[in-house]
Amino acid sequence: MNETDGFSYDLLKRLTFPRFGGTEHELRAALLLQEEIAALGRESELEPFDIPAYRIERAAITVTAPFTRSIDCVARGFSGQLPEGGAELPLRYIEMDSPIAFRGLEDLSGTAVLVERLGEKMYRELVERRAAAIITIASNKWYQADADLLPTEMRPNYLKWGALPTFTVRPYDAAAMLRDGAATLRLELRQRSYTATSHNVVAVVEGTEPTDEWVAVTAHYDSTSITPGAWDNGSGTAAVMGLYRHFLNHPPRRNMRFIWCGSEEQGLLGSRAYVRAHQELLPSCRMCFNFDMCGSILGNNEISFIGPEALETMVRQVCDEAGFPSNVDAYVDSSDSAPFACAGVPVVCPSRGHWTSQEMHTRHDTLDTISPQKLHEMVAFSTALIGFFVNAPDFPIAREIPADAAATLEKRFGPAVP
Ligand SMILES: [Zn+2]
Repeated sequence: MNETDGFSYDLLKRLTFPRFGGTEHELRAALLLQEEIAALGRESELEPFDIPAYRIERAAITVTAPFTRSIDCVARGFSGQLPEGGAELPLRYIEMDSPIAFRGLEDLSGTAVLVERLGEKMYRELVERRAAAIITIASNKWYQADADLLPTEMRPNYLKWGALPTFTVRPYDAAAMLRDGAATLRLELRQRSYTATSHNVVAVVEGTEPTDEWVAVTAHYDSTSITPGAWDNGSGTAAVMGLYRHFLNHPPRRNMRFIWCGSEEQGLLGSRAYVRAHQELLPSCRMCFNFDMCGSILGNNEISFIGPEALETMVRQVCDEAGFPSNVDAYVDSSDSAPFACAGVPVVCPSRGHWTSQEMHTRHDTLDTISPQKLHEMVAFSTALIGFFVNAPDFPIAREIPADAAATLEKRFGPAVP
């Protein structure tokens, strides 16, 4: 593979803008992908699907006693709302969901609870104790007084316990509130929910042999709301376009479907929608290769997989032959590969990152962190990796998921077809 012309990087440059699922910006990115495919002389499908969407109309936290201070915050989408004009509530800090921490706190009605970490168990405890509102602490570093506050949504597994108005503040501000003895807060949260439309972009490369068997190559092209999303996941989106171009020019034996998924960041909504809408195709889908974050200047390559044991040996062998250093580990990635794995399809997820420093979902996920050369290397390696499977005379691995991985998938992602 001699793709040193910066094809993928050139697309990445044009894709690096916020592309939140269900917005006009995400649609703009989808149309850009379609134009790119058209420029290669091919057609693609724009497959719409509905997603739950929300608009925060007002979110504010003000300390009202024993001093007055406005606290920077974001509110959690779908978490409900407070009465018009807000509510004045006493503040209580609960640092963990242990019976000891909750001792004497059976009734939290009328209380705003500041929590260290909002796991599902903690959330359930607070709903059952009738807390009036929750304030969570962002995962920024202590000293980052101007760190991004990331808007997120309350997920269905939480909402099944009930909606509870939820905010997020920086650790810097949370600590200052406690240090200075903030006792009472005025909380304001108004939001509305509606249905929006997101899209998957799908392009097919037909195999040279008469078979129904096919391999999926996926990447999510959406981003969170405030990030340019170069690494997460403009990089994977562009890598998959590089792979698409390669396999157009070097037709594989088996069919390939390239799927650029929308709304991954809101809970893998695009890949779930694809799997749901194409049930008839899934039994002949042999593997899924998913690309979520690659091309970073710093860092190292990581390949996760779920599938038969032999898969690990094969992936390592291709790494070795291609001179591509990478960790290769069996684990369940929270990305668009998961709905395929839930449907019984073995998955391989190549990625690259400087995991301790690179910022996903923030304003700092910019093109500056990406190397055209490293992006190219990922594409070149992946043509060899995917080529090994799509061009084998007999498909090299069984279409099966080990029982322990299947159990983890079921627990984390639920049934593939909700
Ligand atoms: Zn991602």
